[in-house]
Amino acid sequence: MGRVYNFSAGPAVLPEEVLKEAAEEMLDYKGTGMSVMEMSHRSKAFQTIIETAEQDLRDLLHIPDNYKVLFLQGGASLQFAMIPMNLMKHKKADYIITGQWAKKAYQEAKKYGEAKAIASSEDKTYSYIPDCSDLPIDEDADYVYICENNTIYGTKFKTLPNTKGKTLVADVSSCFLSEPMDVTKYGVIYGGVQKNIGPAGVAIAIIREDLITEEVLPGTPTMLKYKIHADNDSLYNTPPCYGIYICGKVFQWLKNMGGLEVMRERNEKKAKLLYDFLDESELFRGTVEKKDRSLMNVPFVTGNEELDAKFVKEAKEAGLENLKGHRTVGGMRASIYNAMPLEGVEKLVEFMREFEKRNK
Ligand SMILES: *Cc1c(COP(=O)(O)O)cnc(C)c1O
Repeated sequence: MGRVYNFSAGPAVLPEEVLKEAAEEMLDYKGTGMSVMEMSHRSKAFQTIIETAEQDLRDLLHIPDNYKVLFLQGGASLQFAMIPMNLMKHKKADYIITGQWAKKAYQEAKKYGEAKAIASSEDKTYSYIPDCSDLPIDEDADYVYICENNTIYGTKFKTLPNTKGKTLVADVSSCFLSEPMDVTKYGVIYGGVQKNIGPAGVAIAIIREDLITEEVLPGTPTMLKYKIHADNDSLYNTPPCYGIYICGKVFQWLKNMGGLEVMRERNEKKAKLLYDFLDESELFRGTVEKKDRSLMNVPFVTGNEELDAKFVKEAKEAGLENLKGHRTVGGMRASIYNAMPLEGVEKLVEFMREFEKRNK
């Protein structure tokens, strides 16, 4: 039994080279005589692992010195609360609702202050990104919040919203390191790593230093203060050591691949192959506005639920796994993250073509 092409939205495919290296180092990490899972987070070996991981991430994204990199736990979902708790100094924030994840973040923020939905694409089941060039942004808003790539619906912000000078906060869980980004345009960039970087259990937040202060909402638990993690270099308590180690390996893999410019080219090529086929197909069609299409998550349907189910089943038999759409939207979704090789997408398109011939 070999490996399958895994189109899961998350946890998702990881580079095979990384998994092999981790396997080789499983019992004895670089002569320490123990696994990374077994070592103290205060050890010299782990210190090197976390410092190298941070530096490689900084290199990949060209993160300026006035931004902190934090390795956190609680997934992206805990950030839905940490962001308002740490950033809502005036208790006001504006949210752009482009899918379930943005909506959840918005609903969580409402617990802590006046969160306002200033734009939404819910009217058309989140199949597009609303025009964000001139939104009614509150004068006192502490930040403007977006989910940059909408994992479930398959849309992505191609231009960032005009925040009218307010701090931009972005959930990039499903597009993290898929292409270069200008970190200076954001106050906070964060994501769970289990989509495009590493194993579940780590969330990474990149935060401009002036936003990290003692001034947080009353009652904020110590563990939910950005400052405590920043002051302790993500080692206030035991971090998710093994997950950070794998993330570090993925950062090195990305550097070896040539960095994020090269990843963008690769990702564009993979996505184009699939979208071009969807546009010419008489059976399958994409479900979102072309201009807003994600490079990472590609939802599609046949228009017939039974046929969709048949497709997912037969694809699995052909070694193409996890193509079922999100449970709330149905249809299919192919997540084609960094670690999905071009060959996997070629195989998928080939299978779709053949399925179409048999089922017309
Ligand atoms: C998966 C996902 C989340 C939730 O992540 P958890 O780590 O499970 O909390 C949030 N936002 C986006 C964009 C996601 O894709």
